[in-house]
Amino acid sequence: MTQLLYEGKAKQMFTTDDPNVLRVVYKNDATAFNGQKKASFDGKGRLNNAICTKIFKMLQKNGVPTHYLDTISENEQLVRAVNIIPIEVVVRNVVAGSLSKRLGIDEGKSLGRTIIEFYYKSDELGDPMINSDHALAMEIATKDELVEIRRLALSINDALQNFFAEAGILLVDFKLEFGKLKETGAIVLADEISPDSCRLWDKETHEKLDKDVFRRNIADLPETYEKLLKRLEDVK
Ligand code: UDP
Repeated sequence: MTQLLYEGKAKQMFTTDDPNVLRVVYKNDATAFNGQKKASFDGKGRLNNAICTKIFKMLQKNGVPTHYLDTISENEQLVRAVNIIPIEVVVRNVVAGSLSKRLGIDEGKSLGRTIIEFYYKSDELGDPMINSDHALAMEIATKDELVEIRRLALSINDALQNFFAEAGILLVDFKLEFGKLKETGAIVLADEISPDSCRLWDKETHEKLDKDVFRRNIADLPETYEKLLKRLEDVK
């Protein structure tokens, strides 16, 4: 019997017969502003599953360890079981969103160097920003783990920037989550990489191809994600 282990805003996780393998179901729900704005869109689960599958496979080819194992239906993946490290790692190449608000810099300004930010994963607290000292003092990661997380985040950024560039897309920023494999404790990329968790702009026009179209009521979400998937299909 498989059991619902966890239900998040956009995904459900189920156990499988193998204790080291979980089944992820991508839902059609979309939320923004810490769950204050909610909607459901036919096709969203399928689109995010397809986009995320493509990205995880590309990253694995580039030597990035991930929890991804297989895609078993339109909206389901099998992944390796991990203990999630409760840090949301945000990587930024271009100013947008909360960074623009916090520092008063216009959206769209390219950053001279990549910024990595840590947020403590807590719905109750609204995911407050933390630094390495907080993470160490709270014992949510060790020094070595933080070094590894930063190294992986930067190499994922390199691979993703190249991948999206081939589709004429600018990788503005994105959020990552890492976990420790239940089997070995090794740190791997977990959760998802999708237009829910990335800002992706057309390189020329800066048209948004991500969840900001929903957050800011700019365009239809499934149409936007479909457009993104089509453009990624041409990338080998
Ligand atoms: N992000 C995310 N989940 C979160 C917060 C942020 O996936 O809980 C992603 C978001 O889609 C964007 C990047 O992380 O690609 C940076 O988000 P930002 O800090 O600018 O926050 P926002 O403006 O989305 O509130």
